[in-house]
Amino acid sequence: MSTPKAIVTGSGIAGIAAAIRLAIQGYSVTVYEKNSYPGGKISLVEKDGYRFDSGPSLFTEPWLIEELFWLADEPMESYFSYEPVPNSCRYFFTNGKIVDAWTDREKLLQEFEQQLGEPREVLSSYLEKAGKIYENIGEVFFDRPMYRSAWLNKKILKAVASFRPGLVYYTLNEFNEQQLTTGEAIQIFNRYATYNGSSPYSAPAMLSMISAIELDTGVFYPAGGMISIANALYELAVKKGVRFEFNRNVSRIIHTGSQTKGVVLDGKNIFSDIVVSDADVYFTYRDLLDRKREAAALTRKEPGSSAVIFYWGIKKEFPQLQLHNVLFSAEYKAEFNHIFTLKKTYKDPTVYINITSKMEEGHAPPGKENWFVMINVPAIGTSAEWEKEIPYIRQQVLKKLRGMLKEDVEPLIETEQVSHPGILERDTNSFRGAIYGMSSNTRRGAFRRHPNSVSGLPGVYFCGGTVHPGGGIPLCLKSAEIVGTLVKKRTADH
Ligand SMILES: Cc1cc2nc3c(=O)[nH]c(=O)nc-3n(C[C@H](O)[C@H](O)[C@H](O)COP(=O)(O)OP(=O)(O)OC[C@H]3O[C@@H](n4cnc5c(N)ncnc54)[C@H](O)[C@@H]3O)c2cc1C
Repeated sequence: MSTPKAIVTGSGIAGIAAAIRLAIQGYSVTVYEKNSYPGGKISLVEKDGYRFDSGPSLFTEPWLIEELFWLADEPMESYFSYEPVPNSCRYFFTNGKIVDAWTDREKLLQEFEQQLGEPREVLSSYLEKAGKIYENIGEVFFDRPMYRSAWLNKKILKAVASFRPGLVYYTLNEFNEQQLTTGEAIQIFNRYATYNGSSPYSAPAMLSMISAIELDTGVFYPAGGMISIANALYELAVKKGVRFEFNRNVSRIIHTGSQTKGVVLDGKNIFSDIVVSDADVYFTYRDLLDRKREAAALTRKEPGSSAVIFYWGIKKEFPQLQLHNVLFSAEYKAEFNHIFTLKKTYKDPTVYINITSKMEEGHAPPGKENWFVMINVPAIGTSAEWEKEIPYIRQQVLKKLRGMLKEDVEPLIETEQVSHPGILERDTNSFRGAIYGMSSNTRRGAFRRHPNSVSGLPGVYFCGGTVHPGGGIPLCLKSAEIVGTLVKKRTADH
């Protein structure tokens, strides 16, 4: 029997992980990537002696990477290493309070009680509940394919109901207000809705499980920064025989309705037995499958948030800042109302600052720091519209930093690069520049992402942050695992 062929469209983290899995399963795999580098949203900005991870900065669930090396029978330590980060984030409030979210439970309870007045037994009980939600629901939901015919798969419904129906009916903010006592703790635990581009005032309470993933299982730092996750998996894929072709834009998936034949590349047909699309699901339908009706249906779903990011080389060290820092807005609800309802940037945005030069040398010149400064914004607008708005946003962010860090940061910026939704859309083919695909701002939306395969398109598979189970590196890796399982099943059935 000849070796079956697989084509993967896009070398985002899920595309690379799917390619590794398929190569291990005996496929001859080729990945076509429109950019000149692997990794998609995980990439690098290098400027004037500074280096910045351009997209993701928070690394959780490293065992999902380890698993790929284990499956490939390759020693991970030859490719990749990481270390735990004891302080998951330092939070700054407009009332002057500052709190560290330690991943050590005892330290966390003590810190929140001392700095915020959040009773330890209250927080302890909250975290226990969040952990149980992850255990009871997360595993059922994240590790399985979702089929269109069962938007609420019976097993999931049972898991949710067996635990607490309110997890679907209450919003995350309502749940947090019921469970926690201080405004600051509520704001911290509300923020987890942004981890999949959603609003805590609309997304279901189930999202509280994200805090368990972060605070129970830990936060990690990959040596070399986030880019090394993509680079390590790329090298592993090459080692397993996957071929990568860069600067290759797939224009069509060839499909007869009952059979997949391959893809069209530079006007030529390239044949394969299966095609895995790691491209944004909207563009996969609109361009690659030429299914305008399905693409139009996706545009009616609410996109998750996007981001404006300033990559600033700062000619000074700020000992009061950590690897991950959040400077909260005073009116969190108003901020989300602007992002999701008014579709506007908010005048007092919550600012996230990531500084990898705190972790290793070489990311900034000595005595200086590489600041990745991000605010959430609506996923709308053209590049030209964003370019016009950037000077206003920049001033608002600088004003926020001046107010909260008690220092004028502007004169300390010695190099700068900016990203916005238009750039994200252009560079990674992300519809409207949404970071995580569609939002989870409805009960259905939280569960019902596009499945990893559909019955009308046998041989076509979907992976990545815009499909089930969701955005973010860990869920993208899970989407690749689900694709691997579905392909295995298809091989067994044939
Ligand atoms: C600013 C920002 C911050 C984030 N923060 C975090 C974080 O802290 N932690 C975390 O876990 N996650 C975070 N994420 C999310 C995470 O980066 C993504 O969910 C994940 O990297 C998406 O991977 P993917 O496999 O879906 O592919 P993508 O990274 O979206 O890549 C898709 C690839 O497909 C290619 N492609 C598309 N169409 C074609 C075509 N027709 N032909 C050829 N190639 C094509 C694109 O060029 C791209 O390289 C963040 C993302 C951003 C942008």
